[in-house]
Amino acid sequence: MTASHASHKSITAADVKAAVEHAYEQVRTTTGGKNASYIPYLASVDPNLFGISVCLLDGTVISVGDSTHAFGIESVSKVPTAILAMREYGAVDVLEKVGADATGLPFNSIMALLLEKDRPSSPLVNAGAIAACSLVEPVGDADAKWKAIVDNITELTGVKPEVIQELYASESATDFNNRSIAWLLKDYGRIYDDPDLSLDLYTRQCSLSTTAEQLSVMAATIANDGFNPVTEKQVFSPDLAPRVTSLITTVGFYERTGDWLYKSGIPAKSGVGGGVLGVMPGMFGIAAFSPPLDEAGNSVKAQLAIRSIMQELGLNIFAASRLCVCECSSARSRS
Ligand code: GLU
Repeated sequence: MTASHASHKSITAADVKAAVEHAYEQVRTTTGGKNASYIPYLASVDPNLFGISVCLLDGTVISVGDSTHAFGIESVSKVPTAILAMREYGAVDVLEKVGADATGLPFNSIMALLLEKDRPSSPLVNAGAIAACSLVEPVGDADAKWKAIVDNITELTGVKPEVIQELYASESATDFNNRSIAWLLKDYGRIYDDPDLSLDLYTRQCSLSTTAEQLSVMAATIANDGFNPVTEKQVFSPDLAPRVTSLITTVGFYERTGDWLYKSGIPAKSGVGGGVLGVMPGMFGIAAFSPPLDEAGNSVKAQLAIRSIMQELGLNIFAASRLCVCECSSARSRS
């Protein structure tokens, strides 16, 4: 047998800090992209805001820029609610009831639903996310379901999120496309609670505020088999973590997911609020935030920053050498 070519990288917290700071300086003055405008509130957010955070698996958080600025979580909220549905129903049931496939189409595509009406889609696109909200227990009780959604995010980030009321009102007044999706799901027997109730939960969860720091802790919890390295609590069963990361890998950037993976080497989920959450299993969680988006709805600066950090650290989830254990980020014991 020949020796493996795989090398074991050893990365320190200082290396990560240097890469984060370098990425921030490199990307800070980039001007491309535009704030989302189909939700009026998002169009009014300061486009110059920019922050990056990395949470290592020993709980160390390395941040730069506007990493504690509160912004609309939007589609990144699909990740925690997918986790919640899996916690309540198990991974197999969620696969059956919602699915785990890429659509290859935009996040809010009705066409995707028309094409796959008898087949599942992913909880990380609008249709699947509304279906995931419909699954949250106890079915029929909007207040208790909402509490479950918020509690789950609180466990994943360590911080209780608040609704940005202006964003919620703005989104509720303009969510005609999502209303069509909710009722089409009803027609196809793929929604498991009242469609209007499920849509409202989805809209409210998208309107929650978050920060790059909080999202990096959520990402680190996924990267760390469900164990939150900051609160030191096991939030979800370790066997769910690879499933969650697989969903993010498949459809985290919607119709641009393949391009993103090819260029960055890290599974990541974006939101039209300008946030991106990335998961390097066994290594760290990363998040970046900047409101201007490309045509597919993904933050321009967040993408550049995360790619720069991955490249500088020489990491890629698809490379053999990624199997290293970071010196700086050995996962905390779960017992
Ligand atoms: N609330 C947004 C929508 O449903 C989320 C979209 C996104 O962030 O991709 O349109």
